[in-house]
Amino acid sequence: MSENSLARRRFLAAASTGTVAAAIASRSVPAFGQAGKARTLAILGGEPVRKNQSWPSWPYWDDNVVDSVVKTTKSRIWCRIQSASGAVPTFEKEFAERTGTKYCVATGSGTQALHTSVEALGIGPGDEVITSPYTDPGTIAAILCARALPVLADLDPDSFQLDPDDVERRITEFTKAIMPVHIMGQPCDMDRIMAIAKKHNLKVIEDACQAHLAEYQGKKLGTIGDVGCFSFQASKTIACGEGGAIIGSDEQLMDRCYTVHNHGTSRKGRTETIGPKYRMNEFEAAVLLGQLPGVEERFARRNENVAYLASKLAGFPGVVPQKRYEGTGRGAYYVYGMTYRKEHFHDADRGTFLKALRAEGINLSPYIGQGLHREPWVDHVLNAKVYQRMFPAERLQEYREQNVCPNCDAVCQNVVAFWSSGILLGTKEDMDDIVNAIFKVHENRDKLATI
Ligand SMILES: *Cc1c(COP(=O)(O)O)cnc(C)c1O
Repeated sequence: MSENSLARRRFLAAASTGTVAAAIASRSVPAFGQAGKARTLAILGGEPVRKNQSWPSWPYWDDNVVDSVVKTTKSRIWCRIQSASGAVPTFEKEFAERTGTKYCVATGSGTQALHTSVEALGIGPGDEVITSPYTDPGTIAAILCARALPVLADLDPDSFQLDPDDVERRITEFTKAIMPVHIMGQPCDMDRIMAIAKKHNLKVIEDACQAHLAEYQGKKLGTIGDVGCFSFQASKTIACGEGGAIIGSDEQLMDRCYTVHNHGTSRKGRTETIGPKYRMNEFEAAVLLGQLPGVEERFARRNENVAYLASKLAGFPGVVPQKRYEGTGRGAYYVYGMTYRKEHFHDADRGTFLKALRAEGINLSPYIGQGLHREPWVDHVLNAKVYQRMFPAERLQEYREQNVCPNCDAVCQNVVAFWSSGILLGTKEDMDDIVNAIFKVHENRDKLATI
């Protein structure tokens, strides 16, 4: 057994018997992986754990991507309606295949995919959609653009996902759909959410914008609800700058999605309904097609690194990785999130912990600063004529009073995270640096009050 793994075992043994503080205070257990080398916190003048090393960069490109864009350029097929075999229709087929579903409609963004789905399901003014406050603004923008009302339910504080019990409590006579958000690319408790939807006859639009190719109970995320929506914005785990897609297996519904996203004009060329123009352009699809070879290897690498991080952090009480529900398979890991527990760091606040880590060369982020239930759109919407006309005054009053999500507030205060599309493509040594820096700060936690 190497010295490092021995040290780690002793650390874990100490942690499990509740003597971790004593073990560390006595310095009998060196920080994992950096034994004896860099003991003084970098912020207090010691050697940082990681010096000037770069992380794998994101978005990813290689010659495939460049060739694909050049090919599209030279083909003069720059818009999807020019050819049934252009880049967009080809990508739609490939993405449907890779997610194990029948149909795909590509859009210009994840927000557009979500808004198209809301419209195609006939949800509009006077309707409510229950979703999470802990998400990208695009989630609620999709509901608001249809002039429906986003109702924000609270979170499971350990998984950062929608709490199904709170979703059920917030169902009203106006509720038409649930929009579960698979935050950080891991699944919501979809078993419970689907059961609630069925019981109350609600549609389910999966916001899988962070959850490409992730799995739950053997199914790909995005294929469990009525439709699933994806984003290919530059930071996502499959990326083309700006782009999105809707997937589903209901032919009629997916045809309606096509019609809505094509300014209300069907595949047959009849202008039939209300719709914006949200078509993905051929260059975006060309980037995606160029990126698909190798996508499996990249997702496998991210998952290996996550398993490695989890094994290193197992039993460590100071930061606890995002909880996964039973049935969770492969993750997408758009973000790798953990809960910071300051009681294990001499009550140092999260900002101090992040500052000390940053000095060690590890830049973690608080991720989402505050839940969407705290943003100014709430007042804007409650004062807007269309909402006042479509909802009884008592409902809007009740909405305002109930727009509280204490678990989300706690999550926003305690999460430490990193954008992992690129970072999780790193080596084991890169992952060791993250863990070593965390352990080193923990080991020096009695000094955090001084920085
Ligand atoms: C990125 C994202 C969106 C919006 O996608 P865009 O392509 O940026 O419009 C929606 N929901 C979640 C959870 C996201 O991460």
